[in-house]
Amino acid sequence: MDLSSLTNAGIPVAPNALLSDYTTFKLGGPCTALVTCADRARLTTAVYALRKRNIPFILMGFGSNILASDKGINGVIIRYTSDIPLITHNGNTLTVDAATQLDALAQYAVNSGLDGMTTFCGIPGTVGGAIAGNAGAYGAQISDSLQKLDLLGPDGNITSVPRDCIHFEYRDSDIKHNDAIILSAQFKLPSGDIGKMQELRIHIIKERESKHGRWQDNPCAGSFFRNIAPTSNAGQRQSAGGIIERTGGKDLRIGGAHPYPKHANIITRDNSASAQDVLDLTSKIQELVRSKTGIELIREVRLLGTFNGQGNADGFW
Ligand SMILES: Cc1cc2nc3c(=O)[nH]c(=O)nc-3n(C[C@H](O)[C@H](O)[C@H](O)COP(=O)(O)OP(=O)(O)OC[C@H]3O[C@@H](n4cnc5c(N)ncnc54)[C@H](O)[C@@H]3O)c2cc1C
Repeated sequence: MDLSSLTNAGIPVAPNALLSDYTTFKLGGPCTALVTCADRARLTTAVYALRKRNIPFILMGFGSNILASDKGINGVIIRYTSDIPLITHNGNTLTVDAATQLDALAQYAVNSGLDGMTTFCGIPGTVGGAIAGNAGAYGAQISDSLQKLDLLGPDGNITSVPRDCIHFEYRDSDIKHNDAIILSAQFKLPSGDIGKMQELRIHIIKERESKHGRWQDNPCAGSFFRNIAPTSNAGQRQSAGGIIERTGGKDLRIGGAHPYPKHANIITRDNSASAQDVLDLTSKIQELVRSKTGIELIREVRLLGTFNGQGNADGFW
């Protein structure tokens, strides 16, 4: 596949790139080509060029919520992620390119005396990926302070959409299920005490590392399953990790895949593991929890490509 027009436009293209190099599970076979777009301008250039030539593609951010198939993907992946924070600041409003890392946005907000992002400190992934999956922690969700999004639609139009026109749920949104691409987002944040927020940031990052480990050392995609919806309006979500532990799921292991010892809902792996081992283990955990409690665990992590017994025939989501 000749993608030299993208390379000529300053957009890096890596043919046959291994998805294991671009996901926090560090698993996954090759894709036809991986196109990295570090900002909104490059992203729109790449999307228009591929659509003009009817070349289908899959969009990912940092790859921190994805389990990619060992067989890889017969298609192009666009990776929309930036190492540099792309943020503009006007009073209590921050406008952020979706390629920006969520932790960089949280850090920027803290250091600017803006509250509402501190609990997202230490979560890997891009702002775009976080909004698509309505990422959250400590009871807060990224959609809480969102004001509007710039979306690139499948028709090629860019629209500015107010937050209220998008349906968000616990770890889910409309955007995760349609072909719209988040280009940038605007957040309105209340003012806060910089010193207290900086202390909280340090505390949260330490707590995350002690409870979950670092993905660089324990490859994973964060919580594999969603927490369980409350059975009454008053109730809180039940921890999926707690239920897995109570039903004995923490002791299961398939190939090199196993739950993280300190947190049963984080599936990690040793070097011998395949993506198929991870999926087989999590299917076994689902069966165990279903048979012992009647609860259906719902996957939070997205599958990319085909797996034995699952996945789409065309090799995409
Ligand atoms: C160690 C660790 C800890 C984690 N802790 C948490 C946590 O506390 N809370 C939490 O909610 N999550 C957590 N996660 C999961 C993950 O970090 C978040 O879901 C993150 O927001 C995903 O962003 P991403 O850029 O990596 O998305 P990806 O994994 O690359 O993609 C996920 C989905 O988002 C879509 N997407 C990505 N970018 C865009 C865009 N610009 N426009 C439209 N769709 C897009 C993709 O198509 C895909 O469907 C954790 C993960 C790890 C590895």
